[in-house]
Amino acid sequence: MIERTLGIIKPDGVARNLIGEVLRRVEQSGLRIAAARILKLDKAKAEGFYAVHKERPFFKDLVAYMTTGPVFPFVIEGENAIARWRELMGATNPANAAPGTIRKDFAANIERNTVHGSDAPETAKFEVAYFFKQEEIC
Ligand code: ATP
Ligand code: MG
Repeated sequence: MIERTLGIIKPDGVARNLIGEVLRRVEQSGLRIAAARILKLDKAKAEGFYAVHKERPFFKDLVAYMTTGPVFPFVIEGENAIARWRELMGATNPANAAPGTIRKDFAANIERNTVHGSDAPETAKFEVAYFFKQEEIC
């Protein structure tokens, strides 16, 4: 099934000039970039994005981290895009991420883990719409 999913290059990835490297890996895998932008999240926008985690102990730190610098949200399109992008990212904690994944290669720790990816069709729909209008996705 052709899916769309949301990726984000988090502040630690943008700060280290990893936008090109991440997009290269996505395109190399046969997936397509259908939208992209760069922006700085304010507290409210970061809290809204991570609302599902608001009861978690790491929520406050996560929001603070996500507002430290620009982020690069992008839409990925292709067959099974949601699972394939998560495979390219690797496990949430880079210590557990498989060799050759983005998090294994670049992430500092479980919080500063360089990239985000939607985890299911419903969250992908919400997250894509959180950053992009329909007409901005090609
Ligand atoms: P993402 O949603 O960013 O793609 P994920 O789905 O692998 O990552 P989630 O469980 O949704 O992981 O957590 C969202 C984000 O919250 C993680 O990517 C990470 O930045 C942060 N996070 C998750 N667990 C922890 C933790 N135990 N301590 C600190 N930060 C955490
Ligand atoms: Mg998640």
